[in-house]
Amino acid sequence: MAQTTNRDYYKILGVTTKTPKNELKKKYRELAKKYHPDSNQGSKDAENKFKIISEAYEILSDAKKRKEYDRQRSYKNQSRPRSSGQPNWAQEPPGGFGRRPGGNEQSYQEPFAAEPEPIDPDMPTSGFDLQFIIDVPLPTVALGGTIPYTYEKYVKCQSCDGSGMQDEGECSDCQGKQLVVRSVTLDVKIPPGVADKHTLSIIKKGGEGKNGGPPGDLFLKINTQPHPHFKRIKNDIISQVTIPRKLADEGGTFEVKTLNKTKTIEVEEGTLIGEELRIRGEGATINWGKKRGDLIIKFNIEEDDS
Ligand SMILES: [Zn+2]
Repeated sequence: MAQTTNRDYYKILGVTTKTPKNELKKKYRELAKKYHPDSNQGSKDAENKFKIISEAYEILSDAKKRKEYDRQRSYKNQSRPRSSGQPNWAQEPPGGFGRRPGGNEQSYQEPFAAEPEPIDPDMPTSGFDLQFIIDVPLPTVALGGTIPYTYEKYVKCQSCDGSGMQDEGECSDCQGKQLVVRSVTLDVKIPPGVADKHTLSIIKKGGEGKNGGPPGDLFLKINTQPHPHFKRIKNDIISQVTIPRKLADEGGTFEVKTLNKTKTIEVEEGTLIGEELRIRGEGATINWGKKRGDLIIKFNIEEDDS
């Protein structure tokens, strides 16, 4: 049915994918007039050009044909493989764009290493996939939650509404690139009990596409921030707790911090340095579910300085 062509009909007519229909018609008429066989004394070259121009207009002026043409066109341009699930961290990032404001050295990507430069500037092009490391507090990793994450990416230029053009000329805000770099903040859901270094895939939150191409994806690798009181070992949380010598000798109650609250524990009489107390179900969430590991208290004993 639909045959493929290598001709760039947009280029031929000197329009972009965003050119409105009436503009398209105008452009076509200008060109058709210029290359019409009647006004070119039977020039073969002009005749040929006239044919191609007509062909281009036939496709681009017909919504259905145009859609199919755009689809084929964008398919042909998909030279780079799209990341599927787990990105390869050691590899150069696709397109190389993406950074966190303030030059976070934990960012995987060369800041602004490359700008999106499709072979044909009018081609629908997918946005870049972005890969970053996200620092997450230990209690949030252990129990889940939402944290805001700010990063920079290409977004549609508002000044020209992503057309790259303004008053017959190139848009001065995006220099015709249709996209501009902006800082965006996203509320990132941290799954409860997620493993450290796990990568979250956030679909379509990467860079904006061009000419109607889809946005890229965002990949965030979880980096658990060190915590002053807690350490995580798989599903258990280890906490070093210092108690007074008198309490260790005589026993009694003591208040300790858990991941999300405080809890009163019973300290046994004659507790020694390094002894452990296991509090069931106060650890990290297991497998993103409802069950939780344990909180293990390791006692330190504070000697009286008298
Ligand atoms: Zn612009």
